[in-house]
Amino acid sequence: MQYPAPIEKLIDSYMKLPGIGSKTATRLAFYTIDMDKSDVKAFSDSLIDASTKLHYCSICGNITEQDPCEICSDPTRDQKSILVVEQPKDVMSFDRTNEYHGLYHVLHGVLSPIEGRGPEDLNIESLIKRLQNNTAVHEVIVATNATPEGEATAQYLARLIKPAQIKVTRLAHGLAVGSDIEYADEMTLLKAVEGRTEI
Ligand SMILES: [Zn+2]
Repeated sequence: MQYPAPIEKLIDSYMKLPGIGSKTATRLAFYTIDMDKSDVKAFSDSLIDASTKLHYCSICGNITEQDPCEICSDPTRDQKSILVVEQPKDVMSFDRTNEYHGLYHVLHGVLSPIEGRGPEDLNIESLIKRLQNNTAVHEVIVATNATPEGEATAQYLARLIKPAQIKVTRLAHGLAVGSDIEYADEMTLLKAVEGRTEI
């Protein structure tokens, strides 16, 4: 037996989200039916807004409503350093420490030969162009995760950037090997930035 079509459709939609199987999707679908109509409307509007109003900053690749993003267009930011991260959500993690006031660059992934992801699949070319056009940058801090892919990506970037006489540093290993920036607390991130070493 099948549920009425609108419920089946809703279950299918929830199952498109990462980490949600059919049981959880079914539970969420039935929960949605019981929700306040205005809450459901707000929820669906926020889904549409997030998917249509946001895009990637043409300079740094961060997610933004305006282009360039707030960080790239803020003249009070320290223009001398760029902190390179894997994902847009990592920008927020570092910015929350309130200690790093420089610029960011989002790679949208890491190099992964196994998954067939090479430099051309990442937001690397725009980083190089950015460094060529902006001579104010003295340091690139590579804050990819402490995974083998994150390390390989850091080494690759160092080889690419160092000939331009720009210092390339890597976060200190306060972050456990294999750990995600996403799950690190602010103090750990702060220490990792402070203790960064040149590569
Ligand atoms: Zn930006």
